[in-house]
Amino acid sequence: MPELYDLTITEARDLLSKRRVSSRELTRAVLDRIAAVDARVRAYVTVTEDVALRQADAADARIAAGDAAPLTGIPVCVKDVLATKGVRTTCSSRMLENFVPPYDAHVVQRLFADGAVMVGKSNMDEFAMGSSTENSAFFPTHNPWDLDRVPGGSSGGSAAAVSAGECIFALGSDTGGSIRQPAAFCGVVGVKPTYGRVSRYGLVAFASSLDQIGPISRSVEDAAIVLNAISGQDARDSTSAPLEVPDFTAGLTGDLRGMRLAVPKEYLTDDMDTRVRDAFLAAVEVLKGLGAEVDFDLSLPSTPAALSVYYVIAPSEASANLARYDGVKYGYSFQSGENMWQNMESTRQHGFGDEVKRRIMLGTYALSAGYYDAYYLKAQKVRTLIRREFDAAFARYDAIVAPVTPTPAFRIGEKVADPMSMYLNDVFTLPVNIAGLPGTSVPCGFVTEGGSALPVGLQVIAKPFDEAAMLRVAHAYEQATEWHTRRPTL
Ligand code: GLN
Repeated sequence: MPELYDLTITEARDLLSKRRVSSRELTRAVLDRIAAVDARVRAYVTVTEDVALRQADAADARIAAGDAAPLTGIPVCVKDVLATKGVRTTCSSRMLENFVPPYDAHVVQRLFADGAVMVGKSNMDEFAMGSSTENSAFFPTHNPWDLDRVPGGSSGGSAAAVSAGECIFALGSDTGGSIRQPAAFCGVVGVKPTYGRVSRYGLVAFASSLDQIGPISRSVEDAAIVLNAISGQDARDSTSAPLEVPDFTAGLTGDLRGMRLAVPKEYLTDDMDTRVRDAFLAAVEVLKGLGAEVDFDLSLPSTPAALSVYYVIAPSEASANLARYDGVKYGYSFQSGENMWQNMESTRQHGFGDEVKRRIMLGTYALSAGYYDAYYLKAQKVRTLIRREFDAAFARYDAIVAPVTPTPAFRIGEKVADPMSMYLNDVFTLPVNIAGLPGTSVPCGFVTEGGSALPVGLQVIAKPFDEAAMLRVAHAYEQATEWHTRRPTL
């Protein structure tokens, strides 16, 4: 039997239901694992041992009473961008270093209502801006497969925690790839739901038209279980969709007969790592073997513009969202200036890191009177073109498959001085956010570099609110391969 801390939700549920382990034992195993490895991985900003043990005991009582939900008693790591009542929520920023929210995010409420056990809050790029978790104001997180490398970002702490056995599953957020890219780098499953599927209430806003919360887990089935728990309309987020939530575990048949898949030409670029490309092409062969038809003729011609569109729209929305950090309402407040304006200026000068300031400057520039039409409005128009190209493709195909990233995990420090090369890490993931689609990353192989085995991810994209088709493809692939069963040695 694997170690308790390495179990999937499904395996843990089975042991809990049969009363072979208690939630307290499972939670203790995860907390001990954190104590053993987190000094090296640094996935957590805050470990919530007291909360966890209290919730574990409540879960055990609930299981004993015969009224357990699928997540009752299961340890979860929550990205520090999600508000947790009474528990510090930092966004890995000096600005919110001591901010303790008076309420729980919607998704956190849902997990707690189901009896999940929160073991801690995970490290991230400051305000979710980044692809490596190096933009955390506190410390970088390390990739469990090679501690000299980044875990990806911005949900790098969550992905590393799942990979390293420091939780059973995690929540992340994805604005341009921040669930899928770190999941790929850490060899775990990451799901970004359709925009509107999950309420963003209590998610600290980065770019509101792109942000979505989703699960990071050790199997596609686990991700489906978590998605069942967190999806659905919420009156507190007017963009959450008034749609029925299907049981996302229902379609996980392992069979892809009759499914039409496509690989867009623009997602196999010349400058991508050839080993990542080969791992992806081998994954496509597996999908064919499972009965799917795979077409390589699809073209999504606006894809090359997606990066530019994203880096106009996301900073524009960020500049508006981050205006609230003025030293008055939340968190850090500089008080020794000569007047209110100086205090406000110094609060933002000291409270925000370089990348956040860069985004605020880009965004305010793109939204300023003289440039709005040339940049923001134009980006919105190209956004529509990107969405239409996906719509047309989904009239013909059930899902699109593509790589998640052009390279495997890079070294800590390798890209920090070059924001453009950092931004390029998300070329294959951010079109999905621009079009509001669901996207999944599932492990599809390893490349060897400097003596380390580094995971590679396969991306599956579906039409809006068809997470079921996306998960069916990802699950069938996963079950036909053994990549997801491998664990890093720590
Ligand atoms: N890496 C992208 C960025 O820096 C996406 C981040 C995210 O999805 N939160 O904006």
